Amino acid sequence: MILTLIISFVLLEFAVNSVLSWLNGRWMTHPIPAVLKGLYDEAKYQKQQEYMRTCRRVSWVSRCVSLAIILPVLACGWLGWLDGVVKTWIDSPLLQLLILYAIFDVVGTLLDLPFGYYSTFVVEERFGFNKTTKRTFWLDTLKAALLSLAISTTLLTVIFLLYQSWGDRFWLWALLVYACVMVFFNLFYSNIIVPLFNKQRKLEPGELRTALETAMGQWGARFDDIYVIDGSKHSTKANAYFTGFGPKKRIVLYDTLLEQLATDQVVGVMAHEYGHYKHHDTLWNLVVAIVTIGVYLYLFSLVVGSDALPQALGGTPPSFALAMIAFSLLLTPLGFILSPIKGHFSRRAEYRADAFAAEHGHGESLIEGLKRLAANNLSNLTPHPAVVWFTYSHPTLAQRITQIKQLSHEV
Ligand SMILES: [Zn+2]
Repeated sequence: MILTLIISFVLLEFAVNSVLSWLNGRWMTHPIPAVLKGLYDEAKYQKQQEYMRTCRRVSWVSRCVSLAIILPVLACGWLGWLDGVVKTWIDSPLLQLLILYAIFDVVGTLLDLPFGYYSTFVVEERFGFNKTTKRTFWLDTLKAALLSLAISTTLLTVIFLLYQSWGDRFWLWALLVYACVMVFFNLFYSNIIVPLFNKQRKLEPGELRTALETAMGQWGARFDDIYVIDGSKHSTKANAYFTGFGPKKRIVLYDTLLEQLATDQVVGVMAHEYGHYKHHDTLWNLVVAIVTIGVYLYLFSLVVGSDALPQALGGTPPSFALAMIAFSLLLTPLGFILSPIKGHFSRRAEYRADAFAAEHGHGESLIEGLKRLAANNLSNLTPHPAVVWFTYSHPTLAQRITQIKQLSHEV
C-alpha cells in the first residue's frame, strides 16, 4: 500500500514536470510581449529558441533516466536489500545510517555527472556560455560532493543521537540545531562556502565604486563592503546579490555583470538587491525555510518509529535511513502544494524590490540592465503562465518591466 503510494507519487512528479516542460515548448511560438520588442534580433532569437529546445531535450532525457532507475529500485526493494547488507557488516545503527546515506550521496553524484558534464561542455559550450575548464569542473564536483557529505553526515549524526535520547520528541531539538546551522551559513556563506568555488576581491576605487557608494548613501544603506566574484571562471551568465545580515552584510557583484552592464545599470540592479534587503526578504526566506523544516521534522517524528516505512522499501525494521527516504518520497505532494505558494510570495518580493529601485529613480536603468542580462543569457521571453505560476521565483521579464515603467511614471 505505502509502496504503491510512493511509486504513484514518483510517477506524478514525472508527469507534472513533463507537462510543464511540454506547455513551455508549446508557448515558444507565442508572440513576444510588446515591452520586449527588439530585445533579440532575428538571428539571436533563432539561437535562443534553439537553446531552449536543447535544454528541454536534455532535461527530458535526464528525467527519463532517473525514472528508469528509481522505479525498479523501489519496486524490487533494492534499498531494503542494501540496508540489509550494510546491517550485516556493521553493528552500530548510527554508522549504518551514515554509510547508507554516503552510498546514496555518491551514487546520486555519479548519476548526475554525465548530465552535468554534457550540459556544461556540450550545451553551454555550444551556445557560448561555458567558461569552465575540465579541471575546474572535476575539482568543483569533488568539492561539492565532499561538502555535501560533510554537512549531511554532521546533521544526520546529530538528528540520530537526538532521536536516541529523546524518542519522538527529538524533532524540536533537531529543529533548534537546524536553525542554528542555517543562521550560521547565512552569516558566513561568503566567508566559508564561496571561497571554495570562487575568488572574491573588493571592488577597486573608480567610477563604479563611487556611483554605488553615492547611491547607497542616498538609500541610507550600510554594508560591510562591495565585492567582485570571478563568476567568469564558470560561465558568462551574470548575477549580483546582497548577502548576510547585521554586520555581515555585503554586496557581491559578478565580474561578468560588470563586463555586460553600464555603470548606471549596475546601480539599478543593486537598487533592486538593496530593495530585498530593505524589505527583510533574506530574513523572511530564512524564517520560512526554518518553519518548513520544522513542519517536516514534526511530521517525520510521527512516523519515524513505524515498521511500515522501511518495509515498504523492502527492508527490515528498524531502519532510520529507510524511514527517512520513504518519508521524503511520501512528501512529494506537499512539495507540489508548497511550490506555487512559495513562488507567489517570492514573485511578490521581486516586485517589491523592483518598486524600491523605481521609486528611487533607478527604474529605467534597471529595465535596461535586466534586458541586457536577459539577452545575454538567452532567456525565454514567453514562458507558459502555468509554468510561471508553478515554478517561477521571479515574475517574467515583461511583467517586471511593465510594473517598473508604471511606477517610474508615477514618481
Ligand atoms: Zn530579486
